[in-house]
Amino acid sequence: MARIVQKYGGTSVGDVDRIKNVAARIKAFRDEGNQLVVVVSARSGVTNELIARAKAIHPNPPEREMDQLLSIGEQETIALTAMALEAIGVEAVSYTGAQAGIFTDKAHTKAKIKTIDARPLEKDLSAGKVIIVAGFQGINDDGHITTLGRGGSDLTAIALAAAIKADKCEIYTDVDGVYTADPRVVKNARKLDEISYDEMLELASAGSKVMQSRSVEFAAKYDVVFEVRSSFNNNPGTIVKQE
Ligand code: ASP
Ligand code: MG
Repeated sequence: MARIVQKYGGTSVGDVDRIKNVAARIKAFRDEGNQLVVVVSARSGVTNELIARAKAIHPNPPEREMDQLLSIGEQETIALTAMALEAIGVEAVSYTGAQAGIFTDKAHTKAKIKTIDARPLEKDLSAGKVIIVAGFQGINDDGHITTLGRGGSDLTAIALAAAIKADKCEIYTDVDGVYTADPRVVKNARKLDEISYDEMLELASAGSKVMQSRSVEFAAKYDVVFEVRSSFNNNPGTIVKQE
């Protein structure tokens, strides 16, 4: 039995069928006897849509209200993913960032994670439930919802993997792993089997962005080894770790 943190990005949970596909994948891992904490993003496009709506109402919306608004994208997908699991006979429970004990500083729209109180998670994991956590959000000491910067669901996954000492952290996306260049743009881009945190950060700054840079820095700091792989096939992905 392993303890696995998985993260599914916005494309992977982009519509009802894709959410069902993610649920089926999660079930397969659960059926092997693993403990699973699954982080999901908002459906792709939802966060941008919400931002556009806010800007149509206020040219410079209060950041606290932006966080209040943007956090709903992930709140939709956690509930739907938990329901999709229940529908195929897997006991699942969804958690907002606050419910998952993710405490941040007060920097709305770009908050840093300060601590994670993993006790609620541990309790449901021991009870055999699959836990679905909303990416990209936390709560500050005043009880206000915060968000972790665009792409912040990656950070949620890496930080949770460190907090619950996961055996594995898997970042599922719509490409097979980390490439020498963006495979959606550059035809002869090559997939890498392994890459260091530093190389990954260099690639990101060169424009081939697979993950939020802050989350890669966090992984380097806490030595969280993770794999970037596709949620649409079973190909091995790219392992990211210290050199
Ligand atoms: N939904 C947020 C965003 O679009 C967070 C994420 O997807 O990781 O930036
Ligand atoms: Mg993303």
